[in-house]
Amino acid sequence: MSSILISKHHTAPESIKKEALEALSFYPELKDVEIDIRFKKEIKKSTMQAQPQFGSLLKGKMGRRYVIFISKKIKISNTEFSTKSIPSKVIVGWLGHELGHICDYQNRTTFGLIIFGFKYLFSEKFIKEAERNADSFAIVHGMEDYIIETKNFILDNANIPESYKNRIKRFYLSPEEIMLLIDERDKALEID
Ligand SMILES: [Zn+2]
Repeated sequence: MSSILISKHHTAPESIKKEALEALSFYPELKDVEIDIRFKKEIKKSTMQAQPQFGSLLKGKMGRRYVIFISKKIKISNTEFSTKSIPSKVIVGWLGHELGHICDYQNRTTFGLIIFGFKYLFSEKFIKEAERNADSFAIVHGMEDYIIETKNFILDNANIPESYKNRIKRFYLSPEEIMLLIDERDKALEID
């Protein structure tokens, strides 16, 4: 299934066009950044994945293209979910987290991104930092309701095994940390 153009610089599969536009609306600074959202058959260990296209890395920050891969079937241990059976708000939250990764990448140089890729492969501590950064970007952009919804969908789902839930708890922000971040964000907004 191919993606369609959903705005000047963004593509997404037709079936999640609404969710993609909703998530992107929280990130005005990504308006002119090339982002392709695509379905992929299967992604190891995760549901979605944001990454720069290697060939575009030499073109400088504004010439970068990013791809967000979405697994068609979400296979968590032995349980399989079709992306179609996931509530719309959860998909928006998931995409919001991936767009958070892209914001994080946009703040890095090309060399910095290559280092990032290596560290992500080899260091659990670094994965934790990167995932929490992505959550934080989404919350700073006002997406807390979606991020919380996505987390609850996983943590409250009886069909999802404990091992995956523990991974989510270990690498991502906890509800308490999200509340703290919201407070910080709102305080910063008052000073402005
Ligand atoms: Zn992530």
